[in-house]
Amino acid sequence: MVNVRVRIAPSPTGSPHIGTAWQALFDYVFAKKHNGKFILRLEDTDRARFVPGSEFEIYETLKWLGFEYNEGPDIGGSFGPYKQSERLDIYKKYSDELLEKGLSFKDEGAVRFRINKSGQASYHDLVGDKDITIQNTTQEDFVILKSDGFPTYNFANVIDDHLMQISHVIRGNEYISSMPKYLQLYRSFNWKPPQFAHLPLLVGSDRSKLSKRHGAKGALEFKKEGFLKEAVINFLALLGWTHPQAKEIFSLDEMIEVFDFKDFNPASAFFDVTKLEWLNGEYIRKTQDSNLKTQIYQYLLQLSDGALSKTDHPTEEEIERLVPLVKERIKKLSDFIPLTSFFYERVEYDQAQFQKLNIKNQNKALETVLKKLEEMEKPWQADVFESTFRKLAEDLGLSASQMFQLIRVAISGQLVTPPLFESIQVLGEEETINRIQAALKFLQ
Ligand code: GLU
Repeated sequence: MVNVRVRIAPSPTGSPHIGTAWQALFDYVFAKKHNGKFILRLEDTDRARFVPGSEFEIYETLKWLGFEYNEGPDIGGSFGPYKQSERLDIYKKYSDELLEKGLSFKDEGAVRFRINKSGQASYHDLVGDKDITIQNTTQEDFVILKSDGFPTYNFANVIDDHLMQISHVIRGNEYISSMPKYLQLYRSFNWKPPQFAHLPLLVGSDRSKLSKRHGAKGALEFKKEGFLKEAVINFLALLGWTHPQAKEIFSLDEMIEVFDFKDFNPASAFFDVTKLEWLNGEYIRKTQDSNLKTQIYQYLLQLSDGALSKTDHPTEEEIERLVPLVKERIKKLSDFIPLTSFFYERVEYDQAQFQKLNIKNQNKALETVLKKLEEMEKPWQADVFESTFRKLAEDLGLSASQMFQLIRVAISGQLVTPPLFESIQVLGEEETINRIQAALKFLQ
């Protein structure tokens, strides 16, 4: 294998899309597999669509996912600069060379490349492992340098991929139809083209090009929603690519070990956000409790911009006690909040929740619950708790489920919580009694 050098070349035109992270994954994996280099290049030549600040979100996305690049605008490297806006003199030089050779011409301030329409362009695509041939008659002369001195993508991608010694161009398949342009440019400079891998089109469940309505959004939105980077990576890996043993769950390291372009399906790749949620739940359950505690804590910190105050957020110790109660029940880190906020926030009671239990003489029943709890020997034991309240339910003509739901709503204000006795153990005996008293006060 040649010296592998691959690049991701996003345009800073807004928050990086999840599709950018998806492409970066294959660059990163391929570079790692072959001990190569992964390069970040910012294609910021479309000044009208440029969004200041979005470059930082690109850095943050790659850093979050751990796709560490070896060269890039924020870290430099021997083939830089890595922002196209800082390479204008380079494009000018090569554009002049084509003008001199008569291969391009000036046209109302812009420079256009003269397409040779005879014959055809052929190249081998690593995705699908096939030779692709496109007739040159499909192409028209095209702008390489705009009147403002900025290059077009069609020109800059060839110049930069060559000068940055990119060995494999991995990018979306929307560029295939322009391959004759690129191949003619390479030839006009006498440069050897790199190898190409055009990734399948990302589509939503209705097979149309992936967009927001399919649940696709900015890559960092997934972080904000509480997806684990390991699950996101695993999910992205399964888009268009298949593990050779058809495994669904595997680590990044394992992917690096087995990765081959031949395992791509060149037809479209389905983006299914429910699959991501499923995977995320699997990863949460695989995560060790102490690690999960740290991740939840970090997640809450990030949500509150680092301003976690002890009054309205759980401490690390509190989270640690709650982790075993919620681990089986959450799909995203964000699910932790609605499931556990009652533990550390004042309960807001709601008549409607109590009414759903359909208990006659509810206040009387709750008073008796309070009395039983006050009499119960401490520390409360699960089996004693269980039998006491089953018996009480019977005495009061209630079902056991009505009884336990009554206690649940009284301590949490909610009909759904982690298991009741475990929750009570986390709250502690005193707090549990306080809450039952508060509920009684609310009901009276
Ligand atoms: N700036 C281009 C894009 O975002 C890069 C395509 C490529 O990887 O060559 O689509």
